[in-house]
Amino acid sequence: MARNLSRRRFLGVAAGAAASAGRSAVAREDPGQTEDDAAPWFLRTRRWVQTNLNEQDPATYDPELWADYWQRVRAQGVIVNAGGIVAFYPSRFDWHHRALALGGRDLFGEIVTRARRAGLTVLARMDSTRTYEDVFRAHPDWFARDANGEPFRSGELYTACVNGPWVNECIPAILREIGERYRPDGFTDNSWSGLGQRQVCHCDHCRTAFRRAASMDLPARVDWDFPAYRQWIRWSYARRTAIWDACNRVTHEAGGPGCHWLGMCQGEPSRMCEDFRDPNAIWSRSPIVMLDWQARRTGEGFQANAIAGRTVHSVLGWDKLVPESTALYLGPTRPMFRKAAKPEPEARLWAVCGMAAGIQPWWHHLGASQDDRRQLRTAERLSRWHAENEAYLVDRTPIATVGVAWSETNIDWYGRGESATRAVAPFAGVAESLGLHRVPWRAVHADRVGPEASELDVLVLPNLAAMSDAQCAAVRRFVEAGGGLVATGETSLYDDEGRRRADFALADLLGAHATAEHRGSEVGPTASPWASGEGHSYLRVAPAGLKSPALEGFEETDILPFGGRVEIVRVEPGAEVLLTLVPDSPQSPPENVWMREPRTAIPGLVLHATAGSGRVAYLPADLDRCFGRDRIPDHGRLVASLVRWASRRPVPLEVDGPGLLDCHLYRQPGRLVLHVVNLTNPAAFRPYATELHPVGPLRVRLARPKDLRPIRARRLVAGGEAPCTADGDWLELTLERVLDHEVLAIE
Ligand SMILES: [Zn+2]
Repeated sequence: MARNLSRRRFLGVAAGAAASAGRSAVAREDPGQTEDDAAPWFLRTRRWVQTNLNEQDPATYDPELWADYWQRVRAQGVIVNAGGIVAFYPSRFDWHHRALALGGRDLFGEIVTRARRAGLTVLARMDSTRTYEDVFRAHPDWFARDANGEPFRSGELYTACVNGPWVNECIPAILREIGERYRPDGFTDNSWSGLGQRQVCHCDHCRTAFRRAASMDLPARVDWDFPAYRQWIRWSYARRTAIWDACNRVTHEAGGPGCHWLGMCQGEPSRMCEDFRDPNAIWSRSPIVMLDWQARRTGEGFQANAIAGRTVHSVLGWDKLVPESTALYLGPTRPMFRKAAKPEPEARLWAVCGMAAGIQPWWHHLGASQDDRRQLRTAERLSRWHAENEAYLVDRTPIATVGVAWSETNIDWYGRGESATRAVAPFAGVAESLGLHRVPWRAVHADRVGPEASELDVLVLPNLAAMSDAQCAAVRRFVEAGGGLVATGETSLYDDEGRRRADFALADLLGAHATAEHRGSEVGPTASPWASGEGHSYLRVAPAGLKSPALEGFEETDILPFGGRVEIVRVEPGAEVLLTLVPDSPQSPPENVWMREPRTAIPGLVLHATAGSGRVAYLPADLDRCFGRDRIPDHGRLVASLVRWASRRPVPLEVDGPGLLDCHLYRQPGRLVLHVVNLTNPAAFRPYATELHPVGPLRVRLARPKDLRPIRARRLVAGGEAPCTADGDWLELTLERVLDHEVLAIE
C-alpha cells in the first residue's frame, strides 16, 4: 500500500527477490549485507521477549538465565523496564521513584548492555501516568482529581493528570535521560493515556486548559447528551494524540531519529477509544504497533486474536509489524495468576491465531524470578518455528474479497458509552460468522472504503450507524461500480457526530427508509434501557424468500429464531422483503407458547438490486449483533449466506471438512500463503485449552491468481508437500491432518 514504507521499498530490491527467501535473511546486491541488517529495527524485529520487572527484581535478576531464554526462543528484541512508575536505573531526578531493591545497581543498563551484545533490539518500557504516594504528597498539583477534588487512585498508586507537569515536564525529562544515556531503539509505555472516557479530571490544569480551548467549564458528569462532555471528548482525544507526537519529538531528539516512542495499543478499537487512544490517528502514524492484547477474554474464542490483527492492519497496512504481548502467566480467569504458567495449548492457540493475521510473538513474563519454571518452556517450540518460517509470515497482502467496516466514529458517537452492544457486537457477529463459515475477510476502516474498493467484491456495514457524508459517498460509488453490500440495523442513520438524520443516508441503496421506530430489544429481555418485550420473537420466510438463493439451505423451515431488535422501515417498491417479524410472545408455560401475531408485514430482511449496480442485502433485524451475543447457528449462517449472495464472484477460498477452523489467505510475490488454524477444542470458548485435537482430512480449493501457476504446496508446519492439482482457475489440495495449525506455501 502506497502509504506505507514497505521493507522491500526501503531496501530498493526487487519484490520477487525478497520474497524468495526461505529464511530470515535475503542476499542483496552487497553480498555482505542482508535484508535484516539493512532494514530499520521496526521492520526487522519479529520476535520479542519481555521480562516485566518488579521492584524486588534488582536484588536477584539472573542475567544468564534470561540471556539463555532469549536465545532459546530466538528473540530479536527485548522490552526492558526503564522508568516512569519505577526507575530501574540510577535516575538523577529525586522525584523518580527507584525500585525498592535497586541499591547501587543499574539493572536497566546491565540488561541493555547484555541485549546489545546478543544483537537484540531494545525498547525501554515506561509506565508514565501513575506513581507513589510520596510523589503525590510532594506535588499534589500533578495528579488527577474528581469533581470533589479527591485524587484518582489505582490501588496504592496515584494517577497523574495528562495535562499537568508530570506528563508535560517530568516524563519528557525521563525520556531524555534514558534516551541520551542508554540509546534504546525506542520506548513503550503501559499507561500513557491516563484516565479514560468515564473519568473526568477536574484538576486546576484541566479546568484552565479546557476553558481556554473550549470556552466552557468541564463537564460535571459523564453524559453523551451534554455539550460540555462531547466537547471534552474531542479535546481529550486531541490531547492524547498530542502527547504521542510530543513524546516522539523528545525521543527522536534524545535517542536519534529511529528512536520511536510507541506507547501501547489494545487490539480492539473500542478499548482504544475508551482510553482516548484514537485508533485511526495512532495506527496511521506509528511505524510499528506494540499490541497489549495478551489473552482471550472469558467466553471468547482464540479467533478474537485474528480479528484484532486484521483490525490493526486495516489502518497500519500489511507491510508493518504488530508484535503482541502474549501472557505466559495464567489468565484470563480472575484473579490472573501472574506467577503461574499458562498451559502451552492455551498460549499456543492464541499465538497461532495471531500469526495467521499478521501478529508477531512477544513473550511476556511477570518478574525475573519464576518459581513456576514451566512458563519458560511454553513458547520455545512455537517461537523456533516462527524463526524458521518468518519470511512467510510478514510482508504479505491478504486475499480477502469481503470487507467488514468499522470506525471510531461509530464506536464513540453512535456507541455513546454503550459501544459494546451498539457497535462492537455487530462487528464481532459478522466477523465470527464469516470465520465460522470459512469466508476470508478483511477489516476496512470506514474512511478507506475508496482505496480498498478494487480489492473487494462485498462490503459489510455491521450497524455502522454513524457515517460521514464522505464515507456514505464512498460506499455508494462502490455499489454503483458493481460491489455487493450487506448492511444491518441503523447503518448510515446518523452523521459523524452521532446526530440522527431524517432517513438513512444510504436509503437509495438499501431500498428502505427509516421511520424512527423499532421493535424488540438489543441486549436481551431486561438488560438495556432500550429493551422492550420478552425477546421470544421469530423471523418468518416471506413468499419472496421461498425460492431466493439468498436463503439457500433454509428450505425446510418457515421461521428462524430471532430475539433481537428490528428497525421499522418503509421498503421501496423495487426491493424484495424475504423475512418478516413475528413479534415476541410468552415462552412459558408450554400451554401459553403460541404466536400471538404469527404474521406481520414488518421487514426483517430486504434485498435490493438496481441495474448495473451491486446486490444489496439490508437486515433491519440485527442478526449480526444477535450472533455476536448468542451464537445462534441460523444467525451466523444467514449472515454468511447473504455475503456470498451479494458477492459478484465466488469467494476465493473453500475449505471442506469438519472442525472449527480459522482460515487466512495471503499473496506474496510468486506464491500464496494459506493459514488453516484448527480451533476444534473443548475449550474453544472457555479457557483453558490443555491439549490439541487434530482434524483432517480437509479439502481446500483456492482461486488461482491469473499470473501464478503454482506447482507445489509446501507444509510449513507438518513438513513435506500437500499434493496440489489445477482445476481451471482453481487449485485443489488436501490437508490430511492439522494439529493446531498448518501454513501452506503454494508456489
Ligand atoms: Zn487534570
